[in-house]
Amino acid sequence: MEVHLHQPETLEEALEILSRDPENAKVLAGGQSLMVLLRSGLLRPDHLVSLRRIEKLQAVAVRDNVIRLGAMVTIRALETSPVVRQALPMISEAAASIGSIPIRNLGTLAGNLCHALIGADLPPSLIALGATIRVVSARGRRTIAAEQFFRGVMQTALEADEIVEAIDIPLLPLDGWGQAYVKVSQRTVDPALIGVAVVLRAEGSTIGDIAIAVGGAGEAPVRACCAERAFRGQPISWGDQFERCLAIRDDVECIADTHASAWYRREILPAVLHRAMARAVRRAREATVQGM
Ligand SMILES: Cc1cc2nc3c(=O)[nH]c(=O)nc-3n(C[C@H](O)[C@H](O)[C@H](O)COP(=O)(O)OP(=O)(O)OC[C@H]3O[C@@H](n4cnc5c(N)ncnc54)[C@H](O)[C@@H]3O)c2cc1C
Repeated sequence: MEVHLHQPETLEEALEILSRDPENAKVLAGGQSLMVLLRSGLLRPDHLVSLRRIEKLQAVAVRDNVIRLGAMVTIRALETSPVVRQALPMISEAAASIGSIPIRNLGTLAGNLCHALIGADLPPSLIALGATIRVVSARGRRTIAAEQFFRGVMQTALEADEIVEAIDIPLLPLDGWGQAYVKVSQRTVDPALIGVAVVLRAEGSTIGDIAIAVGGAGEAPVRACCAERAFRGQPISWGDQFERCLAIRDDVECIADTHASAWYRREILPAVLHRAMARAVRRAREATVQGM
């Protein structure tokens, strides 16, 4: 059957097209994942609404201690943008770990989130950083906390007529804060079997605020509250921290798929957290020294 490709130049136009028949239309971003689904016949929409010509979806802006990343910002831009690298090193780190340069050149931030692949590399960092996702439809606008956005394997909180327009991420003070994303995957181009994002603040010799999120382990990325409790207020000194990392096993029910067994994911989960914690602590200490 014929698929109609629409290439609107404004968001309003895109929303209007989508609202005519949302159940039979799909938004097209970089096409890296969508085209695979179309070619394999798993999806058969009548309409594709491309966002490529909508310039405002490609913007990166900083205002009132919030960085706003447009939905169509490419993964490669997240990796290389000096603004993102300086303000959100964990996002650049996660972006750099995705696929290959051609994939990152075409793939977009919102495409990575909305496809909601198990092991997608950007969601854990956005959850740990407390990001909110700005969503718009012909019915109006709403914001969804990144923590609430991912519902399961390739399932999100988005309605069929909604478009993600931007992601807002609160900026952290540089002094004393460290962030890190660490993943384990089968091959370097693959999504994470386990991906852990850590954001923490070093308060003297203890860990103060901390947020941890994990992707790849369960059906959707989640905040790791048990692991956070195991570390919050604890001495920062490194050495016996592996015991604390075991708490993350209480945060997520590991799944089995063609890439790894549930047992394997559960085994490596604390080790990936251990590595991410070590890196975040080192960066927090460096930030404290530089800030003095
Ligand atoms: C070879 C290969 C290796 C990969 N490796 C990795 C990896 O290591 N880590 C990783 O995380 N990912 C990986 N990916 C996935 C890749 O990151 C995704 O394909 C990409 O993020 C999808 O982005 P896109 O812009 O191409 O989205 P598209 O393919 O265009 O769209 C994907 C989905 O999101 C929806 N969508 C897109 N934008 C919006 C929007 N603004 N509003 C509403 N819905 C929207 C589309 O309708 C579609 O359902 C890999 C993909 C390939 C092909």
